[in-house]
Amino acid sequence: MNVLVLGDGQLGQMLGHAAIQQGVNYLLYSTRENCIKGLAHSQPLALSLEQALAWADVVTWEFEHLAEALVDTCAEKLVIDAEHLKRLIDRRSQKQLCDELNIPTSAWQAYANADELAQCIEQRQQACVIKSAKGGYDGKGQWRWRPDASQDKQQLASEAGVRAGIVEDMIDFNCEVSIVGARSEHGQHRCYPLTLNHHDNGILSYSVAGTQSVAAHLQALAEQHFAALTDALDYVGVLAIEFFVVGDGDQQYLMVNEVAPRVHNSGHWTMQGSNCDQFALHMHAITGRHLPELLAAPTLMVNVIGVAEIPEVLWEAAAVDCHWYGKQARPGRKVGHVNFMIDDQARAEKIASQWAPELQKLAD
Ligand code: ATP
Ligand code: MG
Ligand code: MG
Repeated sequence: MNVLVLGDGQLGQMLGHAAIQQGVNYLLYSTRENCIKGLAHSQPLALSLEQALAWADVVTWEFEHLAEALVDTCAEKLVIDAEHLKRLIDRRSQKQLCDELNIPTSAWQAYANADELAQCIEQRQQACVIKSAKGGYDGKGQWRWRPDASQDKQQLASEAGVRAGIVEDMIDFNCEVSIVGARSEHGQHRCYPLTLNHHDNGILSYSVAGTQSVAAHLQALAEQHFAALTDALDYVGVLAIEFFVVGDGDQQYLMVNEVAPRVHNSGHWTMQGSNCDQFALHMHAITGRHLPELLAAPTLMVNVIGVAEIPEVLWEAAAVDCHWYGKQARPGRKVGHVNFMIDDQARAEKIASQWAPELQKLAD
């Protein structure tokens, strides 16, 4: 089986490991350098995209910010329908899909340009988040507005309105969680336990899974939303849904923040904490396999952001699993992650508060 992965970042690299384990051949397509590679960070191969497409049995992707023209070029070999993929890579159609499927998400409005955005803000009584429709990640391409703040509306609109986007209500959430799972071409679903995510400055700082610290009914609810969304699109492969947890006690429920149609940073803990990590799960799904049962052990994942290295003491430690992506470090850039085996939520919080400051440089 031959797999072509669109994108050559760390997720493509980790998908490559899973491919090797499963005896699957793979190539990466660097969208930045417009070339084919055998491994991330390696020299380009003397192969055109057309030749790689002819070679591939199936095409998958490691990031969702794909140009529509590229999606069209690859359409015949894509693991899902090209039009369905396009619905997921634009926040407007993604939010619309949630509304159509009755999956709660914050109320939103689309704008096409700075004038329309200025009008939206003018009518706002409530705090909101402005997000570009395409291309944002790690909180980039995002602005906040509060009616009581002394922000210059016009300036905000002209800055944020350069590209089309959405304005959505700011949600006062209890916490953030995500469901990572896969759907196979046989229509089977497999989800990991909900991951509890802590963001700092719009970037995922650390995630904890398997500690049963999220109300049990929310797991079932998340899996219901996952099945509804992936079934509606005949989706095949791993997909993550980020949620806000809102409400009290038994009345708590989930609101979709965003859908990431790919392997996801909040699923990196599975490399240490599961019998089948998210990369292996994705490969199983896109090569037509039935999906394995998923087991999960309590795990903490701390992102390594903007620092030059992971301290030796962590590489040496038992029950710790370090990953370095081989990228140049700069503030706010994810360059690795570290998984820790843990006993419970309290221990996870303790380790995270000890290590996150040392492993993360978010700004200059
Ligand atoms: P990612 O790196 O996860 O792709 P992104 O740049 O696509 O991030 P979002 O996930 O939409 O951005 O938002 C980043 C973070 O900002 C969220 O995890 C959440 O903490 C906060 N946030 C986003 N939208 C809202 C909202 N409507 N209400 C409150 N907080 C929000
Ligand atoms: Mg995102
Ligand atoms: Mg997000």
